[in-house]
Amino acid sequence: MAITVVTPTLNDVQWLADHAGGEGMVVSCYANTSVSPGVRPLWREHLKNEVKRIDETLADAPAARAEFHRNVAAIEAVLSSRRLASARGVAVIAASQRSLLWTYALASPVPNRLVVNEEPYLVPLLELLHRQRRYLVVHTDTHHGRLYTAVPGAVRLIEEISEEVPKRHRAAGELWGKQQATIARHREHHVLHYFKELATEIVRAWADDRYDGIVLLGEHEVLQEMRAHLPDHLVRRVVREAPHAWVGRQVSLESKIGALHEEALRAHDRQVLEDVKRRLMERHRIAIGPQAVIDAICSDDVGYHGRVVMEPDRGEVASRCTGCRSLFARVVDECPSCHGRCEKTNLWQAIALLAAGHHVSVHFVGSGQGLEKHSGVVALLTREERVMAPPERVLTAPLPERRA
Ligand SMILES: [Zn+2]
Repeated sequence: MAITVVTPTLNDVQWLADHAGGEGMVVSCYANTSVSPGVRPLWREHLKNEVKRIDETLADAPAARAEFHRNVAAIEAVLSSRRLASARGVAVIAASQRSLLWTYALASPVPNRLVVNEEPYLVPLLELLHRQRRYLVVHTDTHHGRLYTAVPGAVRLIEEISEEVPKRHRAAGELWGKQQATIARHREHHVLHYFKELATEIVRAWADDRYDGIVLLGEHEVLQEMRAHLPDHLVRRVVREAPHAWVGRQVSLESKIGALHEEALRAHDRQVLEDVKRRLMERHRIAIGPQAVIDAICSDDVGYHGRVVMEPDRGEVASRCTGCRSLFARVVDECPSCHGRCEKTNLWQAIALLAAGHHVSVHFVGSGQGLEKHSGVVALLTREERVMAPPERVLTAPLPERRA
C-alpha cells in the first residue's frame, strides 16, 4: 500500500467520499500532532484509549475485531513515519478489505478522533477546509513593501517593491531653510509615488489569485496613508491590520498570520451567529433543521451569498438514494421518488458535501450557541421571497391525489 502525503483540497475530499465504497469497515483516524511549548501532545494516549474502547464493543465479532486491528496497525505505522514530522495534524483513513490507505499531512491541527464506519469519516477535513482562508498579505513602510500569498501555516513571497526616498534628516547645521524644505517635498513626492506603485501591485496581485481577504502589516499611520491609494472594493476586503517589524524571519510572519487568521475567524463567527439570531427572531430567510437545509441547498435557495451554519457533528444518520442520489435527513430504505435502494451515511458529512457540490459555504460553530434548539443546523438563504421552510419537512408522505 502506497502512502501519499498531501494537503487535501475540497476536490480530494469529494473524491474520497465518492470512491471509498466497498466491503468491510473503514477506520478514520485524526491526530493533533501540533507542538506547542510546554504542552505534551495527547494523540497517542487518545488513540490507545479509543482502540481499547472500540475493541471492547467488538468482543463478540472476532472477524470484525481482527479487521479493526489490521486497520489500526496500518494507521499506527503511518503515524510513526518521519515524513509526517512537520505536519500539525494528520488524517489517516484505512480500509484493509478495500486495500485503501489514505494519509493527509495537515497544515492545521485537528481534534483527535477515531471513527469506525462503512464510509470514511470526513467531517474534520470538511471543517478544516471550510475554515481555511487565503490571504493577500501586504507588508510595507514608506518606501518598500512585500506582497505574500498566505494560507495558515504557509507564507509565500510574490512581489517585492521599493523606492529610493531621500533621507528625512541630515546632520544639524548642514542644511538650512529652503534646501530642507526642498528635500521634504522630494520625500513626499517619492512616498506618494511609492504608495501609488504599491496600490497598483496590490490590485494586480488580487486579480491574479482567489483571495478571501487582505492583511496589512506595518505602522498604523503608514497603513492609513497607503489605504487612501487603494480602490474602495479592496479597502473593503481588508480583514486585519497589525504592526509588524520590517526585519523579521519568515517563521515569525507565519505565526503572525496564523494568529491574525484565528482572530479574523472569531470575528466572522460572531458576525454569522448574530445574523443567525436575527433571522431566527424575524423567522425570515432561514431554513431550520437538517431536512429544510438539504431542501434549500438542492433548490438553490442558499446560493453564493448564503451559507449553512452547523454545530459540531452529532453523529446522526442520513440516507442517500443509490439511484437518484437524493438525500434524506433520516433513515429511509427505499427512495420515495425513484424507488432506488438507500444507503446510510453521516448526516453532517452529507450536508457539508452537498453544500460543497452546490458551491455553498459551510460555517462550523461551537456548541451552545443557540443552534441546539434547531437540530444543530440552519441555512441562511439568499432569496428574498423565500420564507422559512417548516422544520423536518416529511418528503416521503405521498401527495394527496388531486381530484379533477
Ligand atoms: Zn432516488
